[in-house]
Amino acid sequence: MKIIDIKTKLLKAPLKTPFQTALRRVEALEDLVVLIQTDSGLTGYGEGAPTPVITGETIGTMLAVIEYLKPFLIGQNLDDFDSLIRIVGHKILKNTTAKSALEIALYDLKAQQANLPLYRLLGGEKQEFRTDITISLNPTEVMVQDALEMVRRGYTTLKIKVGEGGQIDIDRIEEIYWAVGKGVALRLDANQGWSAQQSVEILTALEHKGILPKLIEQPVKADDWEGLRYIKERVATPILADESVFTLRDARMLLELQAIDMINIKLSKCGGISNALKLADLAGEYGVKCMLGCMLEGPISVGAAVHVASAKSDVITMLDLDAVSLCKYNPVKGGVCFDESKITIPDDLIGLGVAY
Ligand SMILES: [Mg+2]
Repeated sequence: MKIIDIKTKLLKAPLKTPFQTALRRVEALEDLVVLIQTDSGLTGYGEGAPTPVITGETIGTMLAVIEYLKPFLIGQNLDDFDSLIRIVGHKILKNTTAKSALEIALYDLKAQQANLPLYRLLGGEKQEFRTDITISLNPTEVMVQDALEMVRRGYTTLKIKVGEGGQIDIDRIEEIYWAVGKGVALRLDANQGWSAQQSVEILTALEHKGILPKLIEQPVKADDWEGLRYIKERVATPILADESVFTLRDARMLLELQAIDMINIKLSKCGGISNALKLADLAGEYGVKCMLGCMLEGPISVGAAVHVASAKSDVITMLDLDAVSLCKYNPVKGGVCFDESKITIPDDLIGLGVAY
């Protein structure tokens, strides 16, 4: 089965409400869908959501990277799968979202060729999952209302965006905690908004009030590895690295430094499925659990992430795959079912089982 063409399409979907973090505000999904066409008539689908403030990519850079890689891929045989993955991974540096979109389409094709759902091809069995949902950074009273609404919609784990620093973050976490009750788990994500000192002060203050978040995600700047270790040594709340871990090397260094407790794996940070699987294996070697997260991505790439989570369900114990639920509607046919906190891989999928 030979690759005969690679096409792209824009995927846009409005969000139910604007998405606000310490780094950005977004009102609609704007992703690039990649279609890899073969001489057997099969088409593989991939997708990526450029996040300029995190990976440095835009739709424009993604299109340029795909154009650049096209001549290396067209005419190649899918049976040389490892070589295709190497081409995508190594012919150009960085550009992890573009690479991930291409890789997802290649894996979709490989699974279709094997007549298997992708998670089975990857060795997975698990088909049912629960995700948290993000509560955007807003005035505290808005966040409390949003949190209550999500609990009403059946979420038992909330990911609270913080990162303004100081008392205002302590107050908002405390108010949400008391509003939703102890049965709801809170994950905090500061998106690099705190200093190490501030992180210790905030988390210690919460811990003294008896408020124990399930984790604090990326409290400090991505390159502040010493800061992460400083915090880890001083608080009980587990530290989840997000923007600090793009590559396997990042992960290994942070694990060796004992600077983190968990890793947030995202296909668009690590360059796709192949590296996500390797990151999970590496974390497993250190006895560290992972979250599988996403950017503001559509159902093709978030679906691919669910297949990866199934394949590594022993290590990937937390899902933050809420992007599809944040959209007003699902623009893609088929694939993984997203129903608020419940995510299900249907029985009858071949490959990713999507069409767009
Ligand atoms: Mg994050």
